[in-house]
Amino acid sequence: MLILGIESSCDETGVALYDTDKGLIADALHTQIEMHRLYGGVVPELASRDHIRRIIPLLNEVMKKAGKTPQDLDAVAVTEGPGLAGALLVGNSVAYGIGLALNISVVGIHHLEGHLLSSLLAEDKPSFPFVALLVSGGHTQIMEVRALGDYELLGETLDDAAGEAFDKTAQALGYSYPGGPAVSALAEKGTPGAIELPRPLIHAPNLDFSFSGLKTAVMNTVRKEPKPLSQEFKNNLARAFVDSVTDVLVTKCLKALKKTGNKSLVAAGGVSANKQLRARLTEACRRRGVKVFFPPQNLCTDNGAMIAAAAGAHLAEIKDLRNKKQGGFSIKPRWSLEHPNDND
Ligand code: ATP
Ligand code: MG
Ligand code: FE
Repeated sequence: MLILGIESSCDETGVALYDTDKGLIADALHTQIEMHRLYGGVVPELASRDHIRRIIPLLNEVMKKAGKTPQDLDAVAVTEGPGLAGALLVGNSVAYGIGLALNISVVGIHHLEGHLLSSLLAEDKPSFPFVALLVSGGHTQIMEVRALGDYELLGETLDDAAGEAFDKTAQALGYSYPGGPAVSALAEKGTPGAIELPRPLIHAPNLDFSFSGLKTAVMNTVRKEPKPLSQEFKNNLARAFVDSVTDVLVTKCLKALKKTGNKSLVAAGGVSANKQLRARLTEACRRRGVKVFFPPQNLCTDNGAMIAAAAGAHLAEIKDLRNKKQGGFSIKPRWSLEHPNDND
């Protein structure tokens, strides 16, 4: 089954072609990071307009790359929410337009479910059940994934997301958004223990996180340091930050695995691209006989492939696609993954 995946919930326009037997066939992405940089954050109206500009050329690009025509498509998958309303409307209008024109199903996917299932695009794929660590720009959550569509939130951040903490740390050290990769590269050259930072909630009995105090500690350390900041200081502070965040994330994952009795862990979201986090999780899981899974490095942040793969997993459970009742055009700017039918 050939599925066209479309993602347009925030500042990335992602389009992909995914074959349920062969996997990802073609992928195209445009990120608006440069455009929003001028304003210090994502400007919703500009984001919507840019999705409008990019989406059709990206669609043509994946079709051409894959050597496919619209008639080859069996279904369209699109991010239905959560996200920016105007941005979601662009992807969904295109998806439903194609669905109507070709008389094929359109499947609305929850953006976080897309992240959660993005490791289905890796060579080594997880099977249910598993514990999931979702670490992205907007979320830091630990979930128990019992089956497709059966997600229980075990803990989440009480304030900032892990990705946000990476971005703020990068900013304090003079690097622009997205700061994760820059902080990771600096940390590689830093000396462990040269600077000490707090590890918020690491000993708390629950599975919640808090990163705003860590962010403040980073800012205070920078404030006290003579300017201009030396390269050695930047490296060491980045090292201290990465060690603190990874310690907390790894500790909470192990707690969740113990609590639920699961033997598989899946990391997902932009921060799961982080080299140090991957190494620490891999080592901790290896010692406990737990299997750990990651999305492909380039598919951790937003993309159309994860949306198509999530739809592929759902469609595999439906025997006759033609009889699938279409949900109809809708977007959900706010949408709970754990309780998807609750409206707010
Ligand atoms: P959400 O999915 O929660 O709505 P989002 O889609 O904006 O948020 P993602 O695209 O999944 O988030 O992730 C973006 C975040 O990932 C940014 O904060 C970025 O700094 C971080 N990130 C990307 N690469 C790395 C890396 N190598 N190390 C650490 N952080 C990283
Ligand atoms: Mg983004
Ligand atoms: Fe995302």
